[in-house]
Amino acid sequence: MTLSVVVVGGGLAGLAAAWELSGGPKGPGPDAPRVEVIEAAERVGGPLLAGTFAGRTVDLGPDGYLARRPEATQLITELGRADDLVPIAASGASLYVGARLVPIPRSLSLGVPTTVDAVREAGLSWRARWAARRDWWWPAPLEVGEDASIGRIVRTKLGDEIAAKIVEPMIGGIQAGRIDDLSAATVFPPLLAAARRGGSLMKALTPPATAGASPAPAGPAFYSLRDGLGSLPPTLRGALEERGVLVRTGVAVSAVRRAATGPRWLVETEATVTPADVVILATPAVATAQLVGALDDDLAALARVDRAGAAMVALRFRDDDLRLPPAGTGVLVPLGTPWRGGGTMMTTALTFLDRKWPHLAREGETLLRAHVGRIDDRRWSEMDDATLVARVVEELGVLVGAGEPRETAVSRWAEGLAQYRVGHAALVERARTGAARVGLHLAGSSYDGVGVPASIASGRDIAREVLAARD
Ligand SMILES: Cc1cc2nc3c(=O)[nH]c(=O)nc-3n(C[C@H](O)[C@H](O)[C@H](O)COP(=O)(O)OP(=O)(O)OC[C@H]3O[C@@H](n4cnc5c(N)ncnc54)[C@H](O)[C@@H]3O)c2cc1C
Repeated sequence: MTLSVVVVGGGLAGLAAAWELSGGPKGPGPDAPRVEVIEAAERVGGPLLAGTFAGRTVDLGPDGYLARRPEATQLITELGRADDLVPIAASGASLYVGARLVPIPRSLSLGVPTTVDAVREAGLSWRARWAARRDWWWPAPLEVGEDASIGRIVRTKLGDEIAAKIVEPMIGGIQAGRIDDLSAATVFPPLLAAARRGGSLMKALTPPATAGASPAPAGPAFYSLRDGLGSLPPTLRGALEERGVLVRTGVAVSAVRRAATGPRWLVETEATVTPADVVILATPAVATAQLVGALDDDLAALARVDRAGAAMVALRFRDDDLRLPPAGTGVLVPLGTPWRGGGTMMTTALTFLDRKWPHLAREGETLLRAHVGRIDDRRWSEMDDATLVARVVEELGVLVGAGEPRETAVSRWAEGLAQYRVGHAALVERARTGAARVGLHLAGSSYDGVGVPASIASGRDIAREVLAARD
């Protein structure tokens, strides 16, 4: 009998799961399952969205993915779009430290300085340099168990200033979280391993073969797509529909119930009930807890995986209306950077869009994107677009000498990024055990890593498990 699978959530993880279930690169065989994807939003793809800005197709959500991981490139290739891949054309970035922009030092290992010189180059104080030197020669003792916060490790070993001015903007920014909450075991496993080894953190993080030198990059660090990364979900949807996968949008799943007879599950929306042998929940953990928490306490505990919302402001300037550093992909602004008149800056990062992706460049113009919002900074959500743009433009005046932009666009991502707090791995393991107990499957960025390749991998891996269990 044909296996019927419902995938709840049409973000990248859900779509990738459906792709794998419907045969992956080979396409559906004679025993292919019947697959239905149900997505609450009017479109698939979650934050992946491209739109027209300044006469160009620009990403309003994620604009590039880590090339080192193969999963996104592989999927794009399977979809026949390898020729649309665009490698990033710039490298490096600047930090806003001491009211000036300094190039991020080269001797960092995933955001943590590995030499005393790197701390000096980042423009940090003599205290921070001393803390680095102390770590090299007289490292502070630190006991870590199964997990610890990134902040606790870095603050103990390298002091508060390095933590706040280098590590927080580089690592905390990736998840719009706080390094004092984020789990080293899941966000940055090499850091936990280095801390466990004891001794100097900087020495432990120095790549052995290339100590003191920066390794030659083997290829581009990031890829995007010519029509924006936001064009990937519609491509995937089209390919799935061609294969006979039913993709429903603008329909929220309201309940997942055990069936009394026939297929194991009934997946309910306001107007429909779909019977299914298998249900893959590719929804954010909080939504999953709401839908199936009543079936198992460990699934209910997923409500604890909160999410940090964020907003982005795209801006078009005339070149002579701002002064950018000569190189790099953007600027990182440490949290707590004071803002005039009190409070702190809202901008956490600035992306030089048309330097990263040269197909967006136009003579005499510059496209920037400002990022605002962290887990504990939701000021953007209380501002209307005009107020948010005005504030960002004022801050860009200080950061890069910007005048008035010629055009702006705001995108808001209230669902934002899952927070992998200390103990996240254990929480996910228990939830997956709970899901297996009741016969459900969990996929997506709440569990298996944040980022485009990780979400694709998560969806496809779960689909492979489902297919293997059937065979
Ligand atoms: C602002 C922002 C910038 C980012 N930038 C980058 C970047 O530059 N590079 C990178 O690699 N990654 C980036 N990411 C991360 C990346 O976008 C995510 O890891 C990935 O898109 C998550 O995909 P997902 O399928 O796991 O989750 P989601 O995309 O969140 O999909 C879950 C889906 O479930 C749906 N859903 C929820 N409840 C229900 C329900 N009851 N019924 C039906 N559907 C439901 C939601 O509407 C959503 O579409 C960024 C994320 C954000 C928010």
